Amino acid sequence: MKVKFWGVRGSIPVPGKSTVKYGGNTPCISVANNSSELIIFDAGTGIFNLGNEIINQKKYYNLHIFLTHFHWDHIQGFPFFAPFFQPEFNIKIYYNTVNGLTAAKAIDEQMKSGFFPVKREEVFKANVEFVDISSVDEVKIDVFKIRKIHTHHSEGTYSYRVNESGKSLVYMTDNEIFCKREEFHPSLESICELNADLINFTDNADILIHDTQYFEEHFSEKVGWGHSNNSAVVYFAHKANVKKLFLFHYDPGFNDERVEELLTESVGIAENELNGRTEILLSQEGVETEF
Ligand SMILES: [Zn+2]
Ligand SMILES: [Zn+2]
Repeated sequence: MKVKFWGVRGSIPVPGKSTVKYGGNTPCISVANNSSELIIFDAGTGIFNLGNEIINQKKYYNLHIFLTHFHWDHIQGFPFFAPFFQPEFNIKIYYNTVNGLTAAKAIDEQMKSGFFPVKREEVFKANVEFVDISSVDEVKIDVFKIRKIHTHHSEGTYSYRVNESGKSLVYMTDNEIFCKREEFHPSLESICELNADLINFTDNADILIHDTQYFEEHFSEKVGWGHSNNSAVVYFAHKANVKKLFLFHYDPGFNDERVEELLTESVGIAENELNGRTEILLSQEGVETEF
């Protein structure tokens, strides 16, 4: 399996000199193997560059976009995804309906007159199919099996696990790993107790890509915002026996140095407290990992 990061930033795009190394685009990753199907998670602003690569590469014509939820930073790139505008592409969009909001409605709202110059049905030329997976636990696409679980975020937010030929990847962004609030440093026991379903879902994954929006030291002000701190993420990955953990969905206020500090601190926690079983890395825009 090959995973490539197209957008690794949470909340709002932050392009510029101070974010050039890890990237300023909002969430989008692609997952591929040697088949002709391309799996895409989320349609943040990172999907713009992915769309252009798909057009230039002429390799993938069946595209499967899975949305974690409809928050702005996860759908903002939709109207600018180039394959929508070309008839040779088959694009399926998998989503979970939230209070009557579907993916089609979300895109139509984004492209409503007043916000956007043209309407979806006037300009999208690809064969686009919307697939409501609200009541589905597993989707099979060629050799990929994709399962989902509800995360600790706004209603209707899901994480996905991809299994293919004995390899597995968990994409879990926009998730607050619950830890006991009265404890300054979260305990392994509280993480296990309060997140058992998600740890179980992630068990033995080769790769976990997880929301790490905060440093632990600032987390007390951000409890309930639906994002995780680095200590909790490191503990969570350790308990789930993850081989490689990619920190993801960085706070838009972090420059490249701050992102690197996030890694240094996280590696320190893993080595000093947990014997460093899980390898910890930074997700970085434009970088591909094969496993
Ligand atoms: Zn987000
Ligand atoms: Zn969100």
